[in-house]
Amino acid sequence: MKLIFLGPPGAGKGTQAAGVSAHLGVPHISTGDMFRSAIKNQTPTGIEAKKYLDAGELVPDSVTIAMVKERLSMDDAKNGYLLDGFPRTVDQAIALDAIDAPDAVVDIDVPDERLLSRLTGRRVCGKCQGTFHISKLADEHTCPVCGGEVYQRADDKPETIATRLKAYHDQTEPLIGYYSGLGKLRRVDVASLASVDGDSRPEDVFKAILASLE
Ligand code: ADP
Ligand code: ZN
Repeated sequence: MKLIFLGPPGAGKGTQAAGVSAHLGVPHISTGDMFRSAIKNQTPTGIEAKKYLDAGELVPDSVTIAMVKERLSMDDAKNGYLLDGFPRTVDQAIALDAIDAPDAVVDIDVPDERLLSRLTGRRVCGKCQGTFHISKLADEHTCPVCGGEVYQRADDKPETIATRLKAYHDQTEPLIGYYSGLGKLRRVDVASLASVDGDSRPEDVFKAILASLE
């Protein structure tokens, strides 16, 4: 199965992609994680990408497409993939169709007003890359899964979040039309899954994603 997860920053793509990729037995390929690891290791891609991530802007297509093309050529992607955070522009989608076209595209739809609190409260584990909302952490510095140290991503600051949401609406949202025209779009309406405390539970979103793929 070749799958894409589409959705705004803070939609829960990363969390859901980890669960769904394990369920389907395909690699979870997150371009955001790849860029952050390239930056940490100071590779040429990382050095080029850093200024865009810091600003909350998209890395240029040429850099991003080359990185994904190389990743998809690896052995573990031969039987499918779950792409999280790619494509994010129509040109990236056209490039992917030429490299290895997806079977289905899951659009995880979350209203803007819910995204802001999710993003400002998001913490990431430096050890296992798990993401958590600060309100759910017993100790705000410690990962509940592996005990590693959690931190706030530099681009989860309010100024940068606004830029990222704008990039999503301007550059990525047109992909919804692109893939629906190809008959590949599956929509998961997270607002309709909201439980009593106003937000949806990850396990309900997971079920809705699997149901959308049936
Ligand atoms: P989020 O979905 O929460 O914004 P990601 O981890 O997917 O976070 O991406 C973080 C940053 O990495 C983006 O703001 C952008 O700078 C860069 N990035 C990730 N994927 C792409 C892509 N497909 N095209 C261009 N830039 C990307
Ligand atoms: Zn951890």
